[in-house]
Amino acid sequence: MNMFKTLNPSKFLLNALDDLGFTKPTPIQEAAFPVIVSGKNVVGIAQTGTGKTLAYMLPVLHSMKYTADKHPSVLVLVPTRELVIQVVEQIALYSKYITVRTVGVYGGTNINTQALTLNDGVDILVATPGRLYDMVIARMIALKNVKKLVIDEVDVMLDLGFIFQLTNIFELLPERRQNIMFSATITEEVDALIKDFFYDPVQISIAVSGTPLENIIQESYHVPNFHSKVNLLESLLRDDAEFSKVLIFAPTKKMADRLQEAMVEEFGPELGIIHSNKSQNTRNAAIEQFNSGAHRILIATDVIARGLDLEKITHVINFDTPQFPENYMHRIGRTGRAEEMGKAILLFSDKEVEAKQAIESLMMREIEVLPLPEDVVISTKLIPEEQPQQVNIVSGHSITGENAAGPAFHEKSAKNSKVNLGSRYKREIVLKYKKPLTRGDKNQNRKKK
Ligand code: AMP
Repeated sequence: MNMFKTLNPSKFLLNALDDLGFTKPTPIQEAAFPVIVSGKNVVGIAQTGTGKTLAYMLPVLHSMKYTADKHPSVLVLVPTRELVIQVVEQIALYSKYITVRTVGVYGGTNINTQALTLNDGVDILVATPGRLYDMVIARMIALKNVKKLVIDEVDVMLDLGFIFQLTNIFELLPERRQNIMFSATITEEVDALIKDFFYDPVQISIAVSGTPLENIIQESYHVPNFHSKVNLLESLLRDDAEFSKVLIFAPTKKMADRLQEAMVEEFGPELGIIHSNKSQNTRNAAIEQFNSGAHRILIATDVIARGLDLEKITHVINFDTPQFPENYMHRIGRTGRAEEMGKAILLFSDKEVEAKQAIESLMMREIEVLPLPEDVVISTKLIPEEQPQQVNIVSGHSITGENAAGPAFHEKSAKNSKVNLGSRYKREIVLKYKKPLTRGDKNQNRKKK
């Protein structure tokens, strides 16, 4: 029997799966199907290769009703044109026996040619956010019928800086809709997006195996702040025989840059860095130099490291403690591959103790805390993010560290507002994600004035 039957999808879908030779749902497909069919908002944590596309498409296709409407009822947003093409191809296979019109649109091609593909009407629209927004503004597409919004690879999308396009699109969608999003990692940005836009989502993740590979030794150091962590890192890395190929994870691009700056003086010639603000050439060079051994140390963010093919890493160093235990499991899985022994080192501050405990409870084992090497100097210098927030009352504005008058200011002043302006929430969001004056945004800004 085809094990997909246990999910009870329509026979048309089942036949298509049979044709493809898919006989058993993957764990994320099994977990996602009933929740998505129930109509709840969903956040799925899954990487490429886990069958995540079918995990959201199967229930979406299952619930699809035939209509002759011109405008899409399902919108799938993905970060790249390659993914648009792939998703459209997959949908075609799964919907072989049902009548559904799927169209993909993406940037870098003629917008008018793409508009023609919508002429016969569309049920499922797969799009990159920038192109979609441009087409909506040009009235080539209307989003008023969208009942289900799927955002795939949210972490990549935010890492590429698509937040403005996304928030613009959210404003144009009907408020009553189901939101389904998938992300391989939950970064701070992803978490903020979920909290701001997705009411009470059910979180589904394939149980990341909580049992790390036996050939990864895990250790940790309790270190109070950024500069002390740098001092510890440098002390460890001086032993270049032991630390011969080291991948260091930083939580954000900004922290990765900060870390590189702090280490460059001593480790410059052996140090590489990779994140999405670097050009493709720079990224390729960083991987090449790390893999060839020209660089002993590579600093990376979670999102960028995901798809990288990095060889024989001796140490994974977690400069920060991931807030989501799954991210820790993914990170340390980069070492100790194929019979090799690997070591994972976690640096945690007082603020990160809880996150460390969450990781330990997922793994059901404690990470040994080692005493700091004697030469490590504990610094009292704090980086802006670590400084206590000082609130100066200057004509009602609260000024916080280097974020003075930044997004936090807008957010706070809106939150503290006592006046009920009808849809305060919407205003807060608009203020928080204030749009830059670029491309399609110009129209949006003009409209508001
Ligand atoms: P994805 O994680 O969505 O990128 O999917 C990875 C690949 O696995 C795709 O090429 C799918 O065609 C394939 N696939 C997805 N689900 C299944 C399944 N249940 N059985 C076999 N192959 C699958």
